[in-house]
Amino acid sequence: MRILFFGTKSYDEKFFKEFLEKENYHDLEIHFIEPNLTADTARLADGYEAVCAFVNMDLGTATIDILHECGVKLILMRCAGYNNVDLDEAAKLGITVMRVPSYSPEAVAEHAMALVLTANRHMHKAYVKGRENDFSLSGLMGVNLYGKTAGIIGTGKIGAAMARLCHGFGMRVIGYDTHQNPSLDFVEYVDFDHILAESDLISLHCPLFESNYHMINKEAIDKMKDGVILVNTSRGALIKTADLVQGIRDGKFFAVGLDVYEEETGSVYEDMSEQILSHSTMARLLSFPNVMVTSHQGFLTKEALEAISQTTLDNAQAFVEGRKNGNELCA
Ligand code: NAD
Repeated sequence: MRILFFGTKSYDEKFFKEFLEKENYHDLEIHFIEPNLTADTARLADGYEAVCAFVNMDLGTATIDILHECGVKLILMRCAGYNNVDLDEAAKLGITVMRVPSYSPEAVAEHAMALVLTANRHMHKAYVKGRENDFSLSGLMGVNLYGKTAGIIGTGKIGAAMARLCHGFGMRVIGYDTHQNPSLDFVEYVDFDHILAESDLISLHCPLFESNYHMINKEAIDKMKDGVILVNTSRGALIKTADLVQGIRDGKFFAVGLDVYEEETGSVYEDMSEQILSHSTMARLLSFPNVMVTSHQGFLTKEALEAISQTTLDNAQAFVEGRKNGNELCA
C-alpha cells in the first residue's frame, strides 16, 4: 500500500523509516512530503491508497471529498485527537480513519507539569536574565505546589498521569470527568463548579467536543480562585481565549501555561520568526509576563514518537490484511 505522509518533520521521517526497516512492513511504502493536508493540498494524494496526517491539519468535508476522488481508502492519523477530521463524511464515502489512541500519556502530562513549573517559577525569565548577567530576583517569585489543590479536568490516560504527578508533589488532587477513573484512588471527584472554585492549579485533559467547546469561559473563570494557575495541553478551543485574556488582565491568574490555543491551525509547527503576527489574540497572550506558550509539543518525546510510528504502521498493516485492530474511528 502506498501511503502519502503529509506535513513531514525530520523526526517523523527518522522514526517512521527506522520502524519500517526494523519491523519489516513489506506491504507498506511511504512517500514523505512537507505540505500539511488541507483542501488545497489533498490532490497530491492522487494515486495513493492511504494518507497520514496530524492534529494540525484540516480534514474537513472538502478535504475528505477530494481524498475520496483521489482514490484514498485509508486515513492514518498519527495522533490521538481527531476533532479536525470529518468522520461522518469519511464514513459516508467508505474511507477508514484510524488513529493512535494512546502513545505516551506521560509525555503530555510531564509537559503539562513543565508548563506549571516554568510559568510558576519563571524559569523562562530566569534563563534569559542569567544569560544577561542579571542575577537579581525581581519578577521571579512563585508559589508552592505542596499542600495546594490540583484540579484535573478529564481523568483519562493523560489526566491520570498528571494527577499522579500532582499527587507526587504533595498536592490534594480533585477531578472532574463524565466517567470516573477507578485507578485513581487518591483523587476526589467533584462537580465542575467545585473544581473551578477549589483548585489552585487547573489542568485540562479532556477531548474537545461540541458540548465542551469554550468550557473555560468568563462564567467559569469568575468561579475560579484568585491566583489560580491554568494549564491547557488538550485542545485550544476548550478555552474561550478572549475571556482568558480578560481574566489575565483582571489579575485572576498567577500563571497560565498553554501548549494548545485556538488559533494554532496554520501556525503551529511553523517558524514564523520573520513574520509579523497577524493574530491579535496570540500577540496579546504573548505580551503577558505570566503566560507561557509552547507549540503543541506535549507529545514530543522519543518514547512517544516511537510509539506513534509503530502504532501507525501497525494500523496500516492491519488495514492491508483486512483486520480490525480497535484503532478505527470509522471503517
Ligand atoms: P482519554 O480518552 O484517555 O481521556 C479523556 C477523558 O476526558 C476521559 O476520561 C473522558 O471521560 C473525559 N471527558 C470527556 N468529556 C469530558 C468533559 N466534557 N468534561 C470532563 N471530562 C471529559 O484521552 P487522553 O489520551 O487522556 O487525551 C486527552 C486529550 O489530550 C486528547 O483528546 C487530546 O485533545 C489531548 N492531547 C494533547 C497532546 C499534546 O501534544 N498536547 C497529545 C495527545 C493528546
